[in-house]
Amino acid sequence: APLADKDARILVVGGAGTIGSSTALHLLRRGYSNVRILDVYPSPSGNSAGNDLNKICGNDRGLGIWGDISDEAWEGWTHDPVFQPYCHSVGKLDLACGDTPRAAQLRRKYNLLQSLGRKDVEWLSDGDAIKRKAGHLADANIETWNGLWCGEGGWVAAHDALDSVGRELASLGIKTAFGPSGTFVSLLLSEDGKTCTGVKAADGTEWPADLVVFAAGAWSPVLLDLQGQCESKAWIYAHIQLTPEEAEQLKGIPTMYNDEYGFFMEPSATGLLKFCNEFAGYTHYTTATPFPLTEPVRISVPRSHAAHPTDTIPTESLEDIKRLIAKTISWLSGRPLINQALCWCTDTPDAQWLLCEDPRWKGLVLATGDSGHSFKTLPVAGKQVVDLIEGVLAPERKHAWRWRPGHGDPNGTGRGGPRPKDLADVPGWKHD
Ligand code: FAD
Repeated sequence: APLADKDARILVVGGAGTIGSSTALHLLRRGYSNVRILDVYPSPSGNSAGNDLNKICGNDRGLGIWGDISDEAWEGWTHDPVFQPYCHSVGKLDLACGDTPRAAQLRRKYNLLQSLGRKDVEWLSDGDAIKRKAGHLADANIETWNGLWCGEGGWVAAHDALDSVGRELASLGIKTAFGPSGTFVSLLLSEDGKTCTGVKAADGTEWPADLVVFAAGAWSPVLLDLQGQCESKAWIYAHIQLTPEEAEQLKGIPTMYNDEYGFFMEPSATGLLKFCNEFAGYTHYTTATPFPLTEPVRISVPRSHAAHPTDTIPTESLEDIKRLIAKTISWLSGRPLINQALCWCTDTPDAQWLLCEDPRWKGLVLATGDSGHSFKTLPVAGKQVVDLIEGVLAPERKHAWRWRPGHGDPNGTGRGGPRPKDLADVPGWKHD
């Protein structure tokens, strides 16, 4: 049975972020008439992991749940007027450094995509083959690299797309509460404690609701006790400001990802070129008291760049980014790296979403556990949430995203690789 009627009072916590705003969009598009988004910041939220220049996006159709979702999302990115202006289908390079397990994985992916009849994929067996696809890497020191080319893919202008969803929500009549009145502090519960009846905000406002969707991204496990199912971690980005001539030179370049070095893509219209290193992320362990706990627990707590704009990034990540630039696009080496920031996601051990009814309280739906790969799903993440609310989410997806404390990779390495370091242990990270 559906979890809510079309006129039910629905609150979306984190509604100015990625999964939350997508959820609100799909609720309104399906005719739900009483939807309010709550967030610390107005849309596009300054705390959202999606609120930066760009994100990698592509279409892996045929490859399981995430392949199907990427296909549905790609349809949205390329055809839905809310998203289409922000999609840059310039092609995508997924690269490895020689004969590595990652290369073998990419090769398997290539074989699978080929067997599905995909015409836009190619295997690039060495540096020369890569350079033929990516002229801007002509001088790159990547002879031993290899990897996968996908023509159907590229990047999306993340901030602008999130902003577009916010504007669409406003035009569809969304109700909002931003700032202290939109900042979740606890659930409201029925007298018997079994039903979620709304949300209490930081300024004391009590928002009654028939259904609450909880999509607070990296803040989710800090605000609500998720019994260890999510761990929040920071990743890093920094930018180079190009001259208009340099930006023109890099216009239309394909997105390049390498699992050991990191990634970058086409510069923005204003000539900003964003770089990310690739690593296990950083935790920030301190204490917090997620609802309904009454005693503080040690947990990784995001430290938002929006609230702490003078924070810097760890030296080792800055060095990684310099190494990425020197390896691939060395004519930019030595240029100032500006707008450096930590950006927060929350990982589940198996990198699947936590998208389910909370078994502890009727009327609460969790929509979190983004695991660092969710921006590309912006056009359809909310469709999954509303399918769950309407009782029509495919059983395979329902199972993958179920409430599952203690499941998955017991070492919590989710995306592979070593345990993340804690920010307290990495030099160079400056903060007040
Ligand atoms: P968010 O978008 O962060 O939204 C959470 C929302 O909750 C925010 O709006 C926040 O303000 C709100 N909130 C927090 N606390 C409260 C509170 N107390 N009350 C109310 N609201 C609250 N994904 C890709 O697909 N492709 C990529 O190339 C890619 N690159 C990335 C690069 C970096 C450096 C990082 C950090 C992430 C990247 N990602 C990428 C991952 C992607 O950005 C995230 O998976 C996705 O944005 C997370 O969405 P979310 O809705 O879970 O969280």
